[in-house]
Amino acid sequence: MGFLPIEHLDLKEYKMSCKYCLVPLFYTFEIISHDYKCKNGKAFFVALVRNVILGDTYTTTLTSGKVDLANIYCVNCHNELGFKYIKTYVDQNSFKQERFMVDCSKVT
Ligand SMILES: [Zn+2]
Repeated sequence: MGFLPIEHLDLKEYKMSCKYCLVPLFYTFEIISHDYKCKNGKAFFVALVRNVILGDTYTTTLTSGKVDLANIYCVNCHNELGFKYIKTYVDQNSFKQERFMVDCSKVT
């Protein structure tokens, strides 16, 4: 995948990182909701996640409706961490567009 620079997050006390390699991903204050579920259990709904690579976009139907998603992978260790909402088709989901779902079990 080539070399990608890692963006550092300065506010240590709020930092959430990849569980496998400790690359910083987002701040706790960027979590919009703790109340989501993914295939492995609980998930964070997050405004912005850094230091991830996007996989291919795919269309799927979640309980809330049809969406285009792309899986997100840690830029350093390439573990799958969750997905990004690329496009939503249902009005009630429009706030999710361009935001991220992160598997709670993959971050620390
Ligand atoms: Zn990692």
